[in-house]
Amino acid sequence: MHVRENIRIRKFDMAIPILLWLFLIVCCFSFLFYMIHKNEKENSDYYYSAAKQNQFTVKGRIEGDVHLLKTIAAGFGGMDSDHARQLPDIVERMNLSMEGMKIEYSEKVDFSSINREDYYLNVLIRGKDNQPLGYLYAVNVRHMLNEILDTQIFAKAGLCAIFDNQGHLIAASADSSDTAVQNDIPNKIYHMITNGQQISSKLNVGKNGRELAVLIPLEVNDWYLLSTFPKAGLEGRYLETAVGIGIMILLSSGLFFLFFFRQYRTIAANQKTLVNIAYTDSLTRSHNFYSFKEQAERILKNADMKDYAVWYCDIKKFKFINDVLGYEEGDRILISIAGLLQKCTKQNSLFCRVSADNFVGLYQYESRADLKNCFQKLVQAFRQQELSNNKRIATELCMGVYCLEEEDRNVSIDNIVNRANIAQKYIKSIPGNQFGFYSKEIRDKVVDESELESEMEGAIERKEFRIFVQPKISIQNNNQIVGGEVLVRWENPRKGTILPGQFISIMERDGKIILLDRYMFELSCQWLHKYLKSGRKPINLAVNVSKIGILRDDFVDYYGNIKKKYEIPDGLLELEFTETVMLTDDTVFNGLVAKLHEKGFICSLDDFGSGYSSLNLLKNLSIDILKLDIMFFRKSNDIRRERIVISNIINMAKELQIKTIAEGVEYRETVDFLKAAGCDIIQGYVFARPMPLDAFERLLSETVTLAPLDEHKAVNICKEI
Ligand code: C2E
Ligand code: MG
Ligand code: MG
Repeated sequence: MHVRENIRIRKFDMAIPILLWLFLIVCCFSFLFYMIHKNEKENSDYYYSAAKQNQFTVKGRIEGDVHLLKTIAAGFGGMDSDHARQLPDIVERMNLSMEGMKIEYSEKVDFSSINREDYYLNVLIRGKDNQPLGYLYAVNVRHMLNEILDTQIFAKAGLCAIFDNQGHLIAASADSSDTAVQNDIPNKIYHMITNGQQISSKLNVGKNGRELAVLIPLEVNDWYLLSTFPKAGLEGRYLETAVGIGIMILLSSGLFFLFFFRQYRTIAANQKTLVNIAYTDSLTRSHNFYSFKEQAERILKNADMKDYAVWYCDIKKFKFINDVLGYEEGDRILISIAGLLQKCTKQNSLFCRVSADNFVGLYQYESRADLKNCFQKLVQAFRQQELSNNKRIATELCMGVYCLEEEDRNVSIDNIVNRANIAQKYIKSIPGNQFGFYSKEIRDKVVDESELESEMEGAIERKEFRIFVQPKISIQNNNQIVGGEVLVRWENPRKGTILPGQFISIMERDGKIILLDRYMFELSCQWLHKYLKSGRKPINLAVNVSKIGILRDDFVDYYGNIKKKYEIPDGLLELEFTETVMLTDDTVFNGLVAKLHEKGFICSLDDFGSGYSSLNLLKNLSIDILKLDIMFFRKSNDIRRERIVISNIINMAKELQIKTIAEGVEYRETVDFLKAAGCDIIQGYVFARPMPLDAFERLLSETVTLAPLDEHKAVNICKEI
């Protein structure tokens, strides 16, 4: 999975708290509704029992009145018809002393003259022989019922009413005047009765129409008792609770979303920073390799592979820039190159800084010439920029390119970049700005190098390294052979003799060079010891010391002890240091030289002029010999100027009591010039090539002087033996 995907806030992750919140809200509302429903149920039960209580009371009162009527009727029972005529008066008088119910006597009940409800409260009086004497009936039933019902009203709100089984209103509490009770209710009541419904919240009888009605049989005359209860108070309570819970939910939701979005913003900001860190090169602000890989994969996914090339660019001698000019200058150069690369980057192309001074890019190109052109433009722009910045050190670039093929579709970006890197490595050692394409041959060579690397393991123990010596000729002293430089050759069982250029840098990488240098030095001392013991004229022998060798604490002791072990007199052994060792602290190096002088060594500065030599070096270093690099003696366009430089370096060295050795001299005319210029010694093909020790020994026994060869001979005849 891509780093970006790992860092990104996934929608699902963000949805979880929101889903939880929704779940919580649903739970809250469900709980609220559950509570309301429960309360309603409890209230209904409560009201039902209150209505039942009403029914009980009303029924009791009515039954009491009926009972009273029946008792009075029984009292009148057995009268003959003559006496019965006095009944109206008796009843009249009784009414005077009775409270509540008013009684009437009538021989016949005249339904048209009495109220319907009064009719219900009547009893028959039977006279003598059980013949009917008339009826006793209550004349104020409605009034009585009204009074009873008035007292049954729950909390003085709501309504209490009696209906017959057809829904007709018999009596009602004070609210009976309410038109709703008179007009609307009967139908609904009838409906409820026929449906057997006992509780309803839809009767709308109250002033605000929000009441709970309970209709239960009164068990008197097939009447029904309606009790209504105000819902407003209760609902008010529910409402308060609901509003309270709602406000709490709203507040907590508000807080939740506030924190949630704050958190989201923080995470998003952090994520942005992380993506920046994870995907951007902190120095140049360009992509880093992770980002490059992701983008390159995306671009190539649906693209025609043949349109693309991957390049790998390295800044030559960048370590030198860092060491000598400082990291700030190194950083400046990196930023400047990144800026130029950015300008060259078009759509569907990108680049990144893959490590220290290495840039990698994907480029959509039209032709190979187009790619080379781009590189040259980059070099040109870089040079211009450095010039305008007054930078004197010409920084060189080296770019390897791999042109993609369709069959690379399934090859990883790492592998593709590696191929461009191989192409770059292959040309890196060639001086100047370099540009080259990857090819199978190059790959084989690089593979070969890595094979060599593995074969190097144990090569010293297997004694595969041999000493070769290249004679040094004193040109100011009749071309006498005054010594030689010890050069290593690897007798590889698979490849034959291999020159140091092919393996020294590999050995330097893993530090094996220290072992090799010491091995070569001991072999040289062994040979010199034997040579001197045989009574021959002492000669000087120079050995190369790798720049990492001198950093070892036991460096001086080791070389001093071996010299002592083989009893080599002072002044015969010379240690050659390359100019890169001088990049470390002058005083440290001079301290080492002083110790080596004490132990009788000669110290020389090798390859002067090959890199970033400065004449300042000569002023500061206490070396004995200056070895002018082969670069000085390559045929150049302006020999006159070149010679002016060389003769001045020689003169200056002379004045500083430093001897000069010219390396890599191949032409007689150069010998003549160097002699005239005052150079002391020449080491070059023009006199002799490096040769095995026995050949060198033979040479020393056969001759003391060597004449310069002519050009043809120098190149063809004097090959290494
Ligand atoms: P160097 O110490 O500067 O040695 C001189 C190099 O120049 C030798 O290359 C020599 O063969 C070559 N040379 C001399 N005269 C001429 C000439 O007229 N024309 C041309 N074209 N070349 C000439 P070689 O032997 O290949 O060694 C290369 C480098 O390897 C040496 O450069 C030295 O830096 C390193 N080296 C060799 N042996 C050792 C060793 O035992 N230890 C270490 N640390 N480095 C070594
Ligand atoms: Mg050397
Ligand atoms: Mg050299």
